Amino acid sequence: MDRDRLKELGLLPVWRIRPDISPGQPSGSSSMSSDTGENPLIHADTVAASSGVNDHLTLIARANWEQLRQKVSNCTACPLSQTRKQTVFGVGDEHANWLFVGEGPGAREDELGEPFVGQAGKLLDNMLQAINLGRDRDIYITNIVKCRPPGNRNPQDTEAQQCRPYLLRQIALIQPRLIVTLGKVAAQNLLTTSESIASLRGRLHEFAGIPLIVTYHPAYLLRSLTDKAKAWEDLCFARETMQNLLNVRQVTN
Ligand code: URA
Repeated sequence: MDRDRLKELGLLPVWRIRPDISPGQPSGSSSMSSDTGENPLIHADTVAASSGVNDHLTLIARANWEQLRQKVSNCTACPLSQTRKQTVFGVGDEHANWLFVGEGPGAREDELGEPFVGQAGKLLDNMLQAINLGRDRDIYITNIVKCRPPGNRNPQDTEAQQCRPYLLRQIALIQPRLIVTLGKVAAQNLLTTSESIASLRGRLHEFAGIPLIVTYHPAYLLRSLTDKAKAWEDLCFARETMQNLLNVRQVTN
């Protein structure tokens, strides 16, 4: 990554990863379990197995990509379905090592049906490029909710709850090596916490046994230069963590 590009992104000076942050070592505040103490992915499967074949959750938990896409685009489970133009399912490599999770589609995403295509999306693309990633390369991008909250407000808890089975199924199908949450809504939903980004970032968490790193939302970074530098620090941490995870896989294969 050359210095001009970093400067353009507002990411200079280059920040170094804190020595006390050890990629590959999940933090004490591990969120491997859901609030019920169960692994949410396994829990979703168990619910599916124990309920009727035509049950809504069963069908989601057993869906393949095409079926899941259909289910999402026909979904009317929460009021967001009444105001959306279209659902925004997700984009990228269905077997990606990296999964990025935002909060919900904005106006541009609602128009185009793809996540992070507005101003914030441009910054996200630049951030991804800074660590040698791109929409066409080993990543999948989706959101906590698949329909635009009116006026770009945060999704409500009930809306996130209704959408959760879709995200769980996406995660189960992708089986990413690492999840990166973008912004407070995504972090708090996946980690079932009300802690701030400032307190959650810089540590390795887990969701359903998958390492998870928290960083700021690109839309927020467009307004906050100082936190852009912290986001760069988070991305370096994520890149190093992924490298360690891939090395572990090589050794165990
Ligand atoms: N913000 C998000 O969280 N997701 C999008 O897809 C776009 C903007």
